[in-house]
Amino acid sequence: MGVRLELETLAARAVGTASRAAGRGGGTTLPGKLLWKLDPGAVDELAAELSSGVALVSATNGKTTTTAMAARILGGGQRLAWNSAGANLLSGLASALVAARGADLGLFEVDEAALPEAIARTRPRVVSLANLFRDQLDRYGELEILAERWRAAVKTLPPDATLVVNADDPVVGDLAEGRDRVLRFGLDDPRHARPALQHAADSKYCLRCGAPYEYAAAYVGHLGDYRCPSCGHARPPLDVVARDVELVGLTGSRFTLHGPEGEVVVELSLPGLYNVYNAAAASSLAFALGASPAEVRSGLEDFSAAFGRFERIATGTKTIIVLLIKNPAAANEALRTLETGVPPVLVVALNDAIADGRDVSWIWDVDFEPLLPHVERVVASGDRAAELGLRLVYGGLPEDRLEIVPGLEEALDRGLGLVEAGTDLVVLPTYTAMLALRDVLTRRRLVKPYWEGGPA
Ligand SMILES: [Zn+2]
Repeated sequence: MGVRLELETLAARAVGTASRAAGRGGGTTLPGKLLWKLDPGAVDELAAELSSGVALVSATNGKTTTTAMAARILGGGQRLAWNSAGANLLSGLASALVAARGADLGLFEVDEAALPEAIARTRPRVVSLANLFRDQLDRYGELEILAERWRAAVKTLPPDATLVVNADDPVVGDLAEGRDRVLRFGLDDPRHARPALQHAADSKYCLRCGAPYEYAAAYVGHLGDYRCPSCGHARPPLDVVARDVELVGLTGSRFTLHGPEGEVVVELSLPGLYNVYNAAAASSLAFALGASPAEVRSGLEDFSAAFGRFERIATGTKTIIVLLIKNPAAANEALRTLETGVPPVLVVALNDAIADGRDVSWIWDVDFEPLLPHVERVVASGDRAAELGLRLVYGGLPEDRLEIVPGLEEALDRGLGLVEAGTDLVVLPTYTAMLALRDVLTRRRLVKPYWEGGPA
């Protein structure tokens, strides 16, 4: 350990403490930004100090939840360096490494575009790749470019590293082709298949020959059991499988997880098939690091939702349920979760900041239609509330059931006013709308500032 690195980490830690004390945004990224600026190579050195090595998690959807689940499974017997607040660029990894000097295992969610550099600098033991959906196109361009970058990065992994892939995603599953140390996970329960690929499906065409895939079962967007009728390219055999999935509305799910060393029944306190995928990803990563099926089950069952992706917040006699809708696939899954118990009142908030995607035309790819005839009232909010309202009316919502309330706090209060005592208010915000909503709830002391952990 060089003297310079010691001084840099001390300086970075001091800045983080000062930032938290000042109440500015948690100080979750500032120290790492400083260290990253002073000496990017410090990330390599700090990662190399971890006695149990590094595991990386990336995906368009679910990486925060998956990483938090893995932390719960793996954190019992060892100290983790973990970017739990979701700061997932290299500077965020630097922050987590600084904050947890002396940790055993590095467990990091990584932004899709930052994955190649994260692999190069941390030399991970395990990399878990779960899905690629169309997201924030203004930042990344086409999904294919990202897939090519991942392909090149995966090729640089040392031979003793394990690659965990979601084999239900044709592009992601293909990254494991030709590797020895691989765990392929997926879902097998055709009862939950969609009748057809949704509008938002992103990878419809065969990687080998370009013909459209046929799906024996499509579960979430383009994730499922696919086969090309022309050349035969198909989902490979699975090493870790979720079967016999029972979805319990907004409260959770129950499924059997079949792994390389046996099967366990898992009860999850998170709704929707997409969270079954997240659990399968976290379990596979944990198996790759030596966890037992029993440890996986108890870790998953202890787990409560990662910040903001799905959250229940009690306020007086009512409960606010927040489901993040950051892109068409996430929005479709959130809406599908609601189909099992349609809420009387919905608040939907659409912002168009860079983190939401400046182009909001994606809302036309969201399948609002099945839900709208059953909802009594929708409050459309956010910077693009009017456009969202138009989309909902085109989707079949009678105009007299729609209210346009651009201000998020006003929309929240309007929604709370509309639901009866003992009832849930469901709020579907895009990313920056969710952050703004959290600020409102924090100010009202309903949730703690996010660096202190989940709901109050
Ligand atoms: Zn083909």
